Amino acid sequence: LLRAEDLWKSFDDRAVLQGVSVELAAHEVVAVIGASGSGKSTLLRCLSLLEPIDDGRILLGDDDISDPRVDANRVRSRFGVVFQSYNLFPHMSVLDNVTLASRVVRKEAKKDAEARALLLLDRVGLADKAREHPDRLSGGQQQRAAIVRAIATDPEVLLLDEITSALDPELVGEVLELVRQLAEDGATILMATHEMAFARDVAHRVVFLDGGRIVEQGPPAELFGAPREARTREFLARFT
Ligand code: ATP
Ligand code: MG
Repeated sequence: LLRAEDLWKSFDDRAVLQGVSVELAAHEVVAVIGASGSGKSTLLRCLSLLEPIDDGRILLGDDDISDPRVDANRVRSRFGVVFQSYNLFPHMSVLDNVTLASRVVRKEAKKDAEARALLLLDRVGLADKAREHPDRLSGGQQQRAAIVRAIATDPEVLLLDEITSALDPELVGEVLELVRQLAEDGATILMATHEMAFARDVAHRVVFLDGGRIVEQGPPAELFGAPREARTREFLARFT
């Protein structure tokens, strides 16, 4: 469904992505792990055209979305993206946050967008928060609302960038549980994460990024259980 071939990206003189190729099949859940600064966020931002690449190719479905002639805004609407924090617009209610893209990008009628949003919010236990502003919600509730906003437009691919890193530990579980449900429902997910136990549990494949290159990738049982590369072993040793 999504295929990146030989992506290169530099900031100033720093080569942050150095020939990264990744594939994501429909309904596949792939976790990207790696040290801080290894390029995880940059990869996700490049894939969703939030950041231009210097070289390489990105295919979404049959479309070459790295072609400079594509309408980047339209392509971006095919991704649902959730970041570590500051996801929701603070001046809008949760419901308006969730329905914004449906109304603006898809030109959906307000009534229809809100009906669907309320169903989704109800599913994640936030129906009673729909009319609140984000600052009235806990961090975990805000991230669940941000996920609902990301899926409200039925994106083809969900990109989740360390969505639990900014949360108090006791709030992490509820957000991961929602991701697990989405995965079980067949969502296609690429997630950068430091939650190794979760990656092991939910991801079909784990990609280890180091210094802007993929060092190793494979099913979680193999990558975590019997890493082939010394650098992978060194990295994973920090989490045990
Ligand atoms: P973390 O685990 O801390 O989120 P990461 O793996 O997501 O790290 P990136 O955010 O992709 O890492 O950053 C990779 C490198 O690129 C870092 O050295 C960072 O300083 C640099 N970088 C990222 N974005 C920019 C930018 N907009 N301008 C300049 N340098 C950037
Ligand atoms: Mg990051």
